[in-house]
Amino acid sequence: MNGGPGLYSFGDEERKELLDVMESGHLSRYGSEDDPAFKRKVATFELEFASFIDVKYAVATSSGTGSLMCCLAALGIGAGDEVIVPGYTFIASISSIIMSNAIPVLAEIDESLTIDPDDIEKRITPRTKAIMPVHMLGNPCAMDRIMAIAKKHKLHVIEDCCQAGGAAYKGRRVGTFGDIAAFSLNVFKTITAGDGGVVVTNDERLYERAFGFHDQGHKPNRMGVEVGNRSIVGVNMRINELTGAVALAQLRKLEGMLATLHTKKDRLKKALDGLPGFKWRTINDVGGECATLLTLLFDTKDRAERFSAEIGGKPLAYSGWHVYNNMEQVLNKVTASASNCPYDCEKHGTEVTYAKHMLPKTDAILDRAVNISVGVVDKGLGSGFGINIKSSDAEIASVAARLTGILKAL
Ligand SMILES: *Cc1c(COP(=O)(O)O)cnc(C)c1O
Repeated sequence: MNGGPGLYSFGDEERKELLDVMESGHLSRYGSEDDPAFKRKVATFELEFASFIDVKYAVATSSGTGSLMCCLAALGIGAGDEVIVPGYTFIASISSIIMSNAIPVLAEIDESLTIDPDDIEKRITPRTKAIMPVHMLGNPCAMDRIMAIAKKHKLHVIEDCCQAGGAAYKGRRVGTFGDIAAFSLNVFKTITAGDGGVVVTNDERLYERAFGFHDQGHKPNRMGVEVGNRSIVGVNMRINELTGAVALAQLRKLEGMLATLHTKKDRLKKALDGLPGFKWRTINDVGGECATLLTLLFDTKDRAERFSAEIGGKPLAYSGWHVYNNMEQVLNKVTASASNCPYDCEKHGTEVTYAKHMLPKTDAILDRAVNISVGVVDKGLGSGFGINIKSSDAEIASVAARLTGILKAL
């Protein structure tokens, strides 16, 4: 089965929450407090998610992509604004910026497979409004360095936490560092409701704007239409009580799932430690990462290719969903910046271009990188082979033996 640890852990808890809604017949996230049929699943999920991450506010939405768009809209990022985003990320980080009429500016990754802080400053122009670090493959970005750069240049930070629900960096959960952050509840993420997303922030104004964007401009938790009270033009990205019920059951398992993933990843990693020809990807917080994947960085591209062939996969450079080189929707398009640019555009350039191999450091790393699944089993992510959150010690030992054999023979 393809999917994340939440999907693999789907069971009685979800059934119970879901039946609660089924029996009540109340499907909308909105309802009256004194209506006994209204089970408040979405509202409860939002409160518990905010408390779990340790932020003041959370808005549940219909996807991670939608959540990113809510973040951008909440910050008022739009036409002519540039947002710095890594070239290795799920395409939604980039497409959400484009759909906000803003301009994605691609940056390099480092051996953590997250945005390279050394490269961010080189990409800043007078039009840069925000940095979008992506906590890729469950690994938190180097947030202390990123926040220092953002502060120095007065830039907003939108954390893309879609692949790292529950991860922490230096004792704080991801999603608490930037101005605002987005999570996904898609089947490949740590917890899932089939599809869905969450926006979190500590800023009341951003919360109201994000909420409004997700629900036709309304203030949070409206009790009706509230004409005269709408401050932003929005769309509909609401989730219903059925989704909320599943999300709530999953959230209550997240802490336990992360602990299990760490135990299983440690076991598999220890069995392979010290074998020749590769090193582990840099993990920015070993105790805080999600431990959903084990990533090998081979000495050479050739070794990575031969290893991948043995496990029926491909190095990360081939991912059609996650590598800018393979995003034909974005490539070879030139985005003109704001025509009324108030800055010296001669000097800064007025166009942002996207071309294959424009990020040589990223390309060289991805050519040598291979994912083994621990909790996220996803061929699209390059992790079609490995273990899952339910794998027994014997299964882990057998996968480790197989990998050891391949690594020794390469
Ligand atoms: C999955 C993902 C998204 C988008 O989430 P959806 O719920 O699929 O819309 C955004 N960014 C990253 C890094 C992702 O992995």
